[in-house]
Amino acid sequence: MKRRFTRNELFRLRNLIPIDTLIRDQLDIPSKFSEGFFRFLCPVCNEFRTATSPSTNLARCFRCEKNFNPIDMVMIVKKMGFVESVKYLKNLLPDTPHDPAALVKGPRPKQAGQSNTLAAGRKDAVSAIGEILKNLSLKAG
Ligand SMILES: [Zn+2]
Repeated sequence: MKRRFTRNELFRLRNLIPIDTLIRDQLDIPSKFSEGFFRFLCPVCNEFRTATSPSTNLARCFRCEKNFNPIDMVMIVKKMGFVESVKYLKNLLPDTPHDPAALVKGPRPKQAGQSNTLAAGRKDAVSAIGEILKNLSLKAG
């Protein structure tokens, strides 16, 4: 292995690539909206007993009783290993400057049970992107 991925890189891949968009637009998995949930054809059991959670950015299959993050999803659907899947997802992330400190302030994995901290981390990341976009449009105008 030439290089390892930093925790921050993996955090960004898991949280900044919306799981719904990844499933529908990148992986071409059949999907639909019902009862307010984005549902997808589970790549493991081929059933629609699924949902995604925007706050945790996880896809869940109720039949398999499994959660899939974006990296898991790519590994299963593309039949690729972890490193390949991470590289695939990195190509989907827009290039961001190296410094946005907000992106580094992720929640600690230990607190995974508290969805509030996860949601807060995601909000930080989203507002950081908002700032970047704002700056871009200011320059363009
Ligand atoms: Zn399943």
